[in-house]
Amino acid sequence: MTTVPAPIISQNPADPSDVLVSVPAAGVFTSVRAVEQARAAQPGWFAVGAAARSAALCAVAAAVDAAADELAALAVREVGKPLTEARAETARTAAIWRYYAQAPFEPEGAVHEQPAGGGLLLTRRRPYGVAGLITPWNFPFAIPAWKAAPALATGNTVVLKPAPEATACAQRLAEIVHRAVPPGVFTVLPGGPSEGAAVVSAADVISFTGSTGVGRRVVRTATERGIPVQAEMGGLNAAIVLPDADITRAAGHIADAIAGYAGQKCTATSRVIAVGAALDPLREALTEALRARPAGDPAHPATVCGPVISRQARDRVLQAREGLPELVGAAVSARPNGWYAAPALVEKVPSGHRLLNEEVFGPLAALLHAEDLDHAVRMTNSVPYGLVASVHTASLDAVLHGLDHLDTGMIRVNAPSTGVDFHLPFGGVKASSHGPREQGHEALAFYTSGRTYSLAP
Ligand code: NAD
Repeated sequence: MTTVPAPIISQNPADPSDVLVSVPAAGVFTSVRAVEQARAAQPGWFAVGAAARSAALCAVAAAVDAAADELAALAVREVGKPLTEARAETARTAAIWRYYAQAPFEPEGAVHEQPAGGGLLLTRRRPYGVAGLITPWNFPFAIPAWKAAPALATGNTVVLKPAPEATACAQRLAEIVHRAVPPGVFTVLPGGPSEGAAVVSAADVISFTGSTGVGRRVVRTATERGIPVQAEMGGLNAAIVLPDADITRAAGHIADAIAGYAGQKCTATSRVIAVGAALDPLREALTEALRARPAGDPAHPATVCGPVISRQARDRVLQAREGLPELVGAAVSARPNGWYAAPALVEKVPSGHRLLNEEVFGPLAALLHAEDLDHAVRMTNSVPYGLVASVHTASLDAVLHGLDHLDTGMIRVNAPSTGVDFHLPFGGVKASSHGPREQGHEALAFYTSGRTYSLAP
C-alpha cells in the first residue's frame, strides 16, 4: 500500500484565511528520486568550470536584487516577517550569493616540494556530490542562500527541503535559481518531516538548520551513514548588562532582540541578566523600550514585532509565561484574527522553570539578577544551549572576561544578540550546533573533501 503524502499548506500568520500554498508534499519516493537526479547532474555541473559557476551565482544575486520588493512582500505575507527586516533579508540574500560567486576562483589547495628526491605534494578539495539542505521557515531566503551558494560554488548539486511554512518563498527562490543553472542542479521539494528524512537518507552531505530535537535526529542518521553533517539548532540566549553600561542604549538593543520578528530568531534574547545595581534602571528602561515595540501588522514599515508563525506557536508562548509575574506585556495593535503574542518580560522566574531551560521561540524573556559578572557568566552558561550572548558594558576588562568565560559560539558586545555577518563563521556550542560552522570560508571547506597527492619526479 502506498501512502498519500499529506498536503502542504502555508498561511499568512497575520491573516490565516489568506492561504498562499496548498500543494501535495513531494513524498518519499519523489524525494529520493530528486537526489538521484541531482547526483546524475553533478559531474556536469562541476565540469562547467569556475567561470560558469561563478556567473550562475552572480545571475542569482542580480535576480534576487531585481525582485527584492516582491520577495520581501512574500516573506511578510508567508512567514509574518516585518517589512523592514524582510527587505534587509532579501538584500543580504543577494549579498550572500554574490560573496560566494568569488569562491570558484579560490585556490583549492597547496603545492609543496617533496622533502627529498624532487617531485611534488599537492592538496586539493573536491565536491561531495549532492548537498541535502533542510531549512526552517524563519529566514526563508537567507538560510537557503548561505547553504546553497557555497554548495553550488564548490561544484555540488543541491536538493533543498524547506520548512512547509515557507513553501511559497522556496518555490519563488527555485524559479530564480532555475533560470541560472542547468536542470537537476537545484531542486526544491515541498514537504515536511518525511521528505526531510528522505533527503537525509539519500544525499552525500547534509546541512540542517532548525530545532535541536529534529537536528539531533538528522545528525544521528547522517552519522550512521558516514556522511558529513552540520546542524545549526536552537538557542536560549542571554544579554548581560553591567551597571556601567549605557542603560538606555542597552535596553533598546535588548528590546530589539526580544521583540524583533516576535523573538523568532535562533539568536533572540530570552534571558536578560542585570548585574548588581543595573537591575532597577534596566527594568525601567526595558519596560519602556518594549512598550514602544507592540505586536503589529508586519506589512507596516514601523513594526518590529509581527505575528508568530502559527496558532501552536502563539499557544506555546502564552503557556510559557502563564502564572509568572509579568513586568511588561506590550500591546497587540493588530487584527485580532492573526497569530499575535505581545512582547513580554517576566521576573521572579523559579529556577527549573522551562523558560530557563527550553527555547520558547517567541517574544518573551526573563529578567534575572546576578550579584557580579562571574555570577552572570555562570547563569549564562547554565543552560543546555550555547549559541550567542550579548554583553553590555563600558569596561574592556568585563568584555575580555566574557570572551574568555562565556560558553557560546558567538558574543556580541554593546549590540543586540541578533545579527549576522555572513562572511564570518556562524554557529554555537553544546545543543545549539553540531559539526563545522556555516558561512564564510568554513562553508567552502564543509562542502568539499580534502585530497592529498604525491607526485614522484
Ligand atoms: P524544525 O526543526 O521544526 O524544522 C526544520 C526543518 O526540518 C523543516 O524543513 C522541517 O520540515 C524539517 N524536518 C522536520 N522533521 C524532520 C525529520 N525527522 N527529518 C528531517 N527533516 C525534518 O524547525 P522550524 O520550526 O522550521 O524552525 C525553528 C527552529 O530553527 C528554532 O529552534 C530555531 O532556533 C532554529 N533556527 C536555528 C538557526 C541557527 O542557525 N542556529 C537559525 C534559524 C532557526
